[in-house]
Formats: sequence, C-alpha cells, structure tokens
Amino acid sequence: MAILEILEAPHPILSQNARPVRPDELGPALQQRLSDMAETMYAAPGVGLAAPQVGDLRRMIVCDPGAGEEDEGRTLYLMVNPVIVERSKEMIEGDEQCLSVPEIVVRVKRHLRITMEWLPQGEPKRQDFEDWPAIVLQHELDHLQGSTLYDRASSLKRSRYLRSRKKAMATEYAR
Ligand code: ZN
Repeated sequence: MAILEILEAPHPILSQNARPVRPDELGPALQQRLSDMAETMYAAPGVGLAAPQVGDLRRMIVCDPGAGEEDEGRTLYLMVNPVIVERSKEMIEGDEQCLSVPEIVVRVKRHLRITMEWLPQGEPKRQDFEDWPAIVLQHELDHLQGSTLYDRASSLKRSRYLRSRKKAMATEYAR
C-alpha cells in the first residue's frame, strides 16, 4: 500500500485523454494500483480519484461517495474502463470540489441518473447511480477525458486559483 502524489491543475497530464486498460494489464499489479489509489483518496480525504490525477493515463477510477460519513451503506468502487451507457434527461446542479484543483468550488450541472459499465476483476459490471454518487462518477469520468474543474471555472476564479497556487508553491520551495 502506498499514498500516491496527487497532481494539481494546470498540470499537463490532467488535460490529456486516458487510454483504455488492455486485457493483458489486468492482474495483481493493476489491483495494487487501484488499492493505492483508494488509499490515496481516503487519506486526502476525498470521495473519488481518477488515475490521471496520480499521473497514470489509463481509464481507471476509484470512488466511495459515502466516504467521511458514518453511514453503513458505504461502498468502495474500483473501476477499470468505466463508461456511461445511459444518462437521464433530468439534470442536477451542485457545488463541486476536486483534489487536483484545491480551494476552488465550481457549480456544475450533471445528469441526475446514469448507468455505468466497467470491469472489476473478471466479469463486466453494470449499475445505475443516482444523485450524489452519479455526480461523483461524472466528475471522475471528466478526468479520464482531460477535463477538470479548472477548465469549468470562470476566468476570474482561474486567475485567483493560479495566484494562490503560486504563493503555496513559493512557500513550499522556501522551506
Ligand atoms: Zn476531481
């Protein structure tokens, strides 16, 4: 198990498309990568993490929409090659945050319900998600297409964000 470094926007890797995981890549090493991503997500703490955020340009996401709550219905999803196969016309809007775009909040419109397919170990899986879990997953899937909240933010928010990251980095280097 290992905590991985989370890249921050505007890192160039975060704006690239992730490629599908090949069948020959399935196995213990991939499983280890997914476990490390989950550990990194919980430690951050966050509710979802996409592989490009840790510098891995393959279609993989981990998510636990109920992380941080005492709820017993919590589930950790480790998804390889996830795709949305159905989307509701009904939309939902909410404030989102991202581990790769710290200290920024962006209001985003998402589909209220989605149906996803992905590969765990072995059999392909298909499941419906609604509301908060659907929002989290759509956010993570954006990462696989090289899109983050940084791209969705207004130019004012973006320049404020860049200024605050510059300051944060300057302090880090000064140490
Ligand atoms: Zn994110």
